[in-house]
Amino acid sequence: MLFTEIKLIEPIQKALVKSGYVSPTPIQEKAIPKILEGKDVFGIAQTGTGKTAAFTLPILQLMFNSNKRLNTPRTLILAPTRELAAQIGDSIREYGSFTHFRQTVIFGGVGQGAQEQALGRGVDIIIATPGRLLDLIEQGHVKLQTIEFLILDEADRMLDMGFITDVKKIIAKLPKKRQSLFFSATMSKSVMELANTFLQNPVKVEVTPESSTVEKIEQGVYFVDNVEKDKLLLNIIKPKKINSVLIFTRTKHKANKIAEFLCRNNIKADAIHGNKSQPQRVTALNNFKSGFIKALVATDIAARGIDIDNISLVINYELPIEPESYVHRIGRTARAGQEGIAYSLCCAEERDYLRSIEKLIKRTIPVMEHDRHSNFAQNAFGKDAKPSKDKNKQRGGRQQGGGSAGQKHEQNKAKKSFKTNFNKNKDSSKSTEDNKHKKKSY
Ligand code: AMP
Repeated sequence: MLFTEIKLIEPIQKALVKSGYVSPTPIQEKAIPKILEGKDVFGIAQTGTGKTAAFTLPILQLMFNSNKRLNTPRTLILAPTRELAAQIGDSIREYGSFTHFRQTVIFGGVGQGAQEQALGRGVDIIIATPGRLLDLIEQGHVKLQTIEFLILDEADRMLDMGFITDVKKIIAKLPKKRQSLFFSATMSKSVMELANTFLQNPVKVEVTPESSTVEKIEQGVYFVDNVEKDKLLLNIIKPKKINSVLIFTRTKHKANKIAEFLCRNNIKADAIHGNKSQPQRVTALNNFKSGFIKALVATDIAARGIDIDNISLVINYELPIEPESYVHRIGRTARAGQEGIAYSLCCAEERDYLRSIEKLIKRTIPVMEHDRHSNFAQNAFGKDAKPSKDKNKQRGGRQQGGGSAGQKHEQNKAKKSFKTNFNKNKDSSKSTEDNKHKKKSY
């Protein structure tokens, strides 16, 4: 199917030609006609499927056709993160370059002066994260009585991040007569309940269910002991001619540590997570997009909605606790139909996380063969396959004698790794980090 076969007005067709889009993606093909008919839509689609254009194009058209040029907001788009809100703003600028609506992006973590001024000048479209928007509403800087179109994007993440009360307060201020669109990457009971509270007779459109990982992504798992992960990471990245690698960790602290470690090893890297200020995040993202830094280390929430087209490699330095996050993470590569690679480093205590992921995606991730392979991690079961709850307590002197098989294994491995490094440093000419990364059938 071609875009020209969907009844889109000329200013939008022109913008699509300018963007180089020829055919609608499946979510666009399904959602655009329904939205143009004026229906409420409940869309299940992940980032990377083209969902932003799926809701933006028809809304721009509906606004354009009704030809009202009021000085008041007509469309409200709510997004869970600043990055996603900013990206939706960029998309609207791109797709709306011939419809000329005024828009502004509202999010927290920065001063509100510029946002107040933009609202004061009058806008047609507001893209916002819930917390800051609510602040501005309460301070009287924005009124929502003229909203005709509401879009809630990444609703599942809104729920995860605890924004739902703010979202409900905002929705309560909107006119009852409006068209509402609701997008979520996953469908759970709480997502359904939320959708039911504000959609009227919605049409459901669904693409790429959560459990089916984007087919084009080549996936692999490296079983490795925790203490060896840093070196393995270098071994994976260094020999490959990779332009951009996105690395995931579970914590902000770890993200910083890895970015620092990579920089020390001559790989330009930066970290992006919730503790970074908005200007720091923007700089890191821009540097990554421009190729100035090669590696971006991110936590799940910060990475949500990162829309960079040419990420060739995603590495899960640590596996996520929620299996659905794996699908989101690896979906950062293979965007808009391109191919991509996603590798995961799995130590013993993450073994059960990997099992949950494989259950969700209904396939076994191929095992990568490498010099630091850990049979212990690969075969971990029971207590050894889970993070130990009392690990922190065991950091004291008493840990030496106790601990599970896993902890003893890691302690031995750490000692061995120290000795090996010591010997290598004595004769660096012998150190060969040139690794073979081959898939092993399993
Ligand atoms: P999204 O899921 O909205 O984050 O979009 C993912 C990526 O796909 C973005 O980089 C878009 O620019 C791109 N994209 C969206 N729709 C199309 C299309 N119909 N043809 C080609 N690329 C597209």
